[in-house]
Amino acid sequence: MVKERYLGVDVCPLNMGQVLLEVDRIIMERKPSFIVAINPEKIMKAQEDESLKNLLNSATIQIADGVGVVIASILNGGRIRSRVTGIDLMINICKRAAERGYRVYILGAKPGVADEAVKVLKERFHGLNVVGVRDGYFKDEEEVIEDIKRKNPDILFVAMGSPKQEYWITKHMERLQVPLLMGIGGSLDVISG
Ligand code: UDP
Repeated sequence: MVKERYLGVDVCPLNMGQVLLEVDRIIMERKPSFIVAINPEKIMKAQEDESLKNLLNSATIQIADGVGVVIASILNGGRIRSRVTGIDLMINICKRAAERGYRVYILGAKPGVADEAVKVLKERFHGLNVVGVRDGYFKDEEEVIEDIKRKNPDILFVAMGSPKQEYWITKHMERLQVPLLMGIGGSLDVISG
Protein backbone atom coordinates (compact mmCIF):
# COMPACT_ATOMS: atom_id res chain seq x y z
CA MET A 1 0.00 0.00 0.00
CA VAL A 2 1.28 3.49 -0.89
CA LYS A 3 1.54 5.63 2.24
CA GLU A 4 2.18 9.30 2.85
CA ARG A 5 4.79 10.27 5.44
CA TYR A 6 4.64 13.30 7.77
CA LEU A 7 7.66 13.99 10.02
CA GLY A 8 8.64 10.36 9.66
CA VAL A 9 5.20 8.91 10.45
CA ASP A 10 3.21 6.97 7.84
CA VAL A 11 -0.44 7.71 7.08
CA CYS A 12 -2.63 5.85 4.55
CA PRO A 13 -4.52 7.95 2.01
CA LEU A 14 -7.74 5.96 2.48
CA ASN A 15 -11.27 7.18 3.10
CA MET A 16 -13.75 5.32 5.32
CA GLY A 17 -15.09 3.12 2.52
CA GLN A 18 -11.59 2.14 1.44
CA VAL A 19 -10.52 1.30 5.00
CA LEU A 20 -13.60 -0.93 5.36
CA LEU A 21 -12.63 -2.81 2.18
CA GLU A 22 -9.18 -3.34 3.74
CA VAL A 23 -10.90 -4.66 6.87
CA ASP A 24 -12.76 -7.25 4.75
CA ARG A 25 -9.53 -8.26 3.04
CA ILE A 26 -7.65 -8.61 6.34
CA ILE A 27 -10.39 -10.78 7.84
CA MET A 28 -10.48 -12.96 4.74
CA GLU A 29 -6.70 -13.40 4.63
CA ARG A 30 -6.51 -13.93 8.43
CA LYS A 31 -2.95 -12.64 8.81
CA PRO A 32 -2.75 -10.62 12.09
CA SER A 33 -2.89 -6.93 11.14
CA PHE A 34 -3.44 -3.78 13.13
CA ILE A 35 -4.90 -0.34 12.61
CA VAL A 36 -3.62 2.75 14.40
CA ALA A 37 -5.13 6.24 14.45
CA ILE A 38 -2.68 9.04 13.65
CA ASN A 39 -3.14 12.63 14.82
CA PRO A 40 -0.68 15.53 15.13
CA GLU A 41 -0.22 14.82 18.87
CA LYS A 42 1.08 11.32 18.14
CA ILE A 43 3.29 12.62 15.33
CA MET A 44 4.84 15.17 17.73
CA LYS A 45 5.36 12.55 20.46
CA ALA A 46 7.05 10.30 17.91
CA GLN A 47 9.65 13.00 17.19
CA GLU A 48 11.25 12.39 20.60
CA ASP A 49 10.50 8.70 20.82
CA GLU A 50 11.99 6.49 18.14
CA SER A 51 10.33 3.33 19.48
CA LEU A 52 6.92 5.04 19.28
CA LYS A 53 7.69 6.11 15.70
CA ASN A 54 8.61 2.53 14.79
CA LEU A 55 5.51 1.23 16.53
CA LEU A 56 3.21 3.59 14.58
CA ASN A 57 4.94 2.74 11.31
CA SER A 58 4.70 -1.00 11.97
CA ALA A 59 0.88 -0.85 11.80
CA THR A 60 -0.80 -2.32 8.74
CA ILE A 61 -3.02 0.74 8.33
CA GLN A 62 -2.53 4.23 9.79
CA ILE A 63 -5.76 6.21 9.57
CA ALA A 64 -5.80 10.01 9.33
CA ASP A 65 -7.51 10.65 12.66
CA GLY A 66 -6.70 14.37 13.01
CA VAL A 67 -7.63 17.29 10.78
CA GLY A 68 -3.96 18.40 11.06
CA VAL A 69 -2.99 15.31 9.07
CA VAL A 70 -5.48 16.22 6.32
CA ILE A 71 -4.07 19.77 6.19
CA ALA A 72 -0.49 18.46 6.03
CA SER A 73 -1.50 16.23 3.13
CA ILE A 74 -3.18 19.08 1.22
CA LEU A 75 -0.14 21.36 1.74
CA ASN A 76 2.27 18.63 0.63
CA GLY A 77 0.37 17.58 -2.49
CA GLY A 78 -0.86 14.36 -0.88
CA ARG A 79 -4.17 12.58 -1.45
CA ILE A 80 -5.74 12.63 2.04
CA ARG A 81 -8.92 14.71 1.92
CA SER A 82 -10.99 13.43 4.81
CA ARG A 83 -10.45 12.36 8.39
CA VAL A 84 -11.15 8.80 9.42
CA THR A 85 -11.46 9.06 13.19
CA GLY A 86 -10.84 6.07 15.42
CA ILE A 87 -14.31 6.13 16.96
CA ASP A 88 -16.06 6.52 13.58
CA LEU A 89 -14.06 3.63 12.18
CA MET A 90 -14.78 1.45 15.21
CA ILE A 91 -18.53 2.08 14.86
CA ASN A 92 -18.40 1.42 11.11
CA ILE A 93 -16.48 -1.81 11.69
CA CYS A 94 -19.19 -2.90 14.18
CA LYS A 95 -21.85 -2.20 11.52
CA ARG A 96 -19.86 -4.25 9.02
CA ALA A 97 -19.40 -7.01 11.60
CA ALA A 98 -23.17 -7.20 12.18
CA GLU A 99 -23.81 -7.37 8.42
CA ARG A 100 -21.14 -9.95 7.66
CA GLY A 101 -21.10 -12.02 10.83
CA TYR A 102 -17.61 -11.04 11.99
CA ARG A 103 -16.86 -12.03 15.57
CA VAL A 104 -15.88 -9.11 17.83
CA TYR A 105 -13.97 -9.09 21.13
CA ILE A 106 -13.74 -5.90 23.20
CA LEU A 107 -10.97 -5.39 25.75
CA GLY A 108 -10.55 -2.25 27.82
CA ALA A 109 -12.00 0.64 29.85
CA LYS A 110 -13.16 0.53 33.47
CA PRO A 111 -15.29 -2.41 34.69
CA GLY A 112 -18.83 -2.13 33.34
CA VAL A 113 -18.05 0.48 30.67
CA ALA A 114 -17.37 -2.00 27.86
CA ASP A 115 -20.53 -3.98 28.76
CA GLU A 116 -22.57 -0.80 28.54
CA ALA A 117 -20.95 0.14 25.21
CA VAL A 118 -21.68 -3.35 23.84
CA LYS A 119 -25.34 -2.94 24.84
CA VAL A 120 -25.51 0.35 22.89
CA LEU A 121 -23.75 -1.15 19.85
CA LYS A 122 -25.99 -4.24 19.81
CA GLU A 123 -29.11 -2.08 19.97
CA ARG A 124 -27.83 -0.09 17.02
CA PHE A 125 -26.50 -3.01 15.00
CA HIS A 126 -28.79 -6.01 15.36
CA GLY A 127 -27.01 -9.31 15.09
CA LEU A 128 -23.64 -7.93 16.20
CA ASN A 129 -21.76 -10.94 17.54
CA VAL A 130 -19.63 -9.88 20.52
CA VAL A 131 -17.87 -13.05 21.63
CA GLY A 132 -15.98 -11.55 24.58
CA VAL A 133 -15.80 -8.42 26.75
CA ARG A 134 -13.13 -7.64 29.40
CA ASP A 135 -12.22 -4.48 31.24
CA GLY A 136 -8.75 -3.02 30.81
CA TYR A 137 -7.57 -3.30 34.43
CA PHE A 138 -6.79 -7.02 34.54
CA LYS A 139 -4.05 -8.56 36.70
CA ASP A 140 -3.69 -11.90 34.97
CA GLU A 141 -2.58 -11.12 31.42
CA GLU A 142 -2.14 -14.79 30.51
CA GLU A 143 -5.74 -15.51 31.43
CA VAL A 144 -6.93 -12.63 29.21
CA ILE A 145 -4.84 -13.89 26.29
CA GLU A 146 -6.15 -17.44 26.72
CA ASP A 147 -9.74 -16.15 26.83
CA ILE A 148 -9.26 -14.21 23.58
CA LYS A 149 -7.69 -17.24 21.88
CA ARG A 150 -10.53 -19.49 23.07
CA LYS A 151 -13.22 -17.09 21.80
CA ASN A 152 -11.44 -16.86 18.44
CA PRO A 153 -12.65 -13.39 17.30
CA ASP A 154 -12.12 -11.87 13.84
CA ILE A 155 -11.70 -8.42 15.39
CA LEU A 156 -10.15 -7.33 18.70
CA PHE A 157 -10.70 -3.74 19.87
CA VAL A 158 -8.29 -2.66 22.60
CA ALA A 159 -9.26 0.39 24.67
CA MET A 160 -6.38 1.06 27.05
CA GLY A 161 -5.27 4.52 25.90
CA SER A 162 -2.54 5.34 23.41
CA PRO A 163 0.23 4.26 23.07
CA LYS A 164 -0.25 1.62 25.81
CA GLN A 165 -2.88 -0.19 23.72
CA GLU A 166 -0.65 -0.21 20.61
CA TYR A 167 2.31 -1.62 22.56
CA TRP A 168 -0.02 -4.28 24.00
CA ILE A 169 -1.29 -5.18 20.53
CA THR A 170 2.16 -5.53 18.95
CA LYS A 171 3.47 -7.53 21.91
CA HIS A 172 0.70 -10.12 21.73
CA MET A 173 -0.59 -10.13 18.15
CA GLU A 174 1.43 -13.14 16.94
CA ARG A 175 0.22 -15.28 19.84
CA LEU A 176 -3.37 -14.10 19.64
CA GLN A 177 -3.76 -14.88 15.93
CA VAL A 178 -6.67 -12.44 15.63
CA PRO A 179 -6.87 -11.11 12.05
CA LEU A 180 -7.74 -7.50 12.88
CA LEU A 181 -6.59 -5.60 15.96
CA MET A 182 -7.28 -1.96 16.63
CA GLY A 183 -6.64 0.45 19.51
CA ILE A 184 -9.72 2.57 20.24
CA GLY A 185 -8.60 4.80 23.16
CA GLY A 186 -11.51 6.31 25.05
CA SER A 187 -14.19 5.27 22.49
CA LEU A 188 -15.99 2.92 24.91
CA ASP A 189 -16.42 5.75 27.42
CA VAL A 190 -17.99 7.88 24.67
CA ILE A 191 -20.25 5.12 23.32
CA SER A 192 -21.44 4.01 26.78
CA GLY A 193 -22.35 7.65 27.51
N1 UDP B 1 -7.63 2.18 30.24
C1 UDP B 1 -7.63 0.83 30.51
N2 UDP B 1 -6.55 0.28 31.12
C2 UDP B 1 -5.47 0.99 31.49
C3 UDP B 1 -5.46 2.38 31.18
C4 UDP B 1 -6.56 2.93 30.54
O1 UDP B 1 -8.60 0.14 30.18
O2 UDP B 1 -4.54 0.42 32.04
C5 UDP B 1 -8.80 2.77 29.56
C6 UDP B 1 -9.49 3.92 30.27
O3 UDP B 1 -10.41 3.43 31.23
C7 UDP B 1 -10.16 4.63 29.10
C8 UDP B 1 -9.18 4.39 27.95
O4 UDP B 1 -8.36 3.30 28.34
O5 UDP B 1 -11.39 4.00 28.79
C9 UDP B 1 -8.23 5.56 27.68
O6 UDP B 1 -8.92 6.61 27.25
P1 UDP B 1 -8.18 7.94 26.84
O7 UDP B 1 -9.25 8.88 26.41
O8 UDP B 1 -7.23 8.36 27.91
O9 UDP B 1 -7.31 7.43 25.62
P2 UDP B 1 -6.91 8.18 24.29
O10 UDP B 1 -8.19 8.17 23.46
O11 UDP B 1 -6.47 9.55 24.71
O12 UDP B 1 -5.85 7.30 23.73
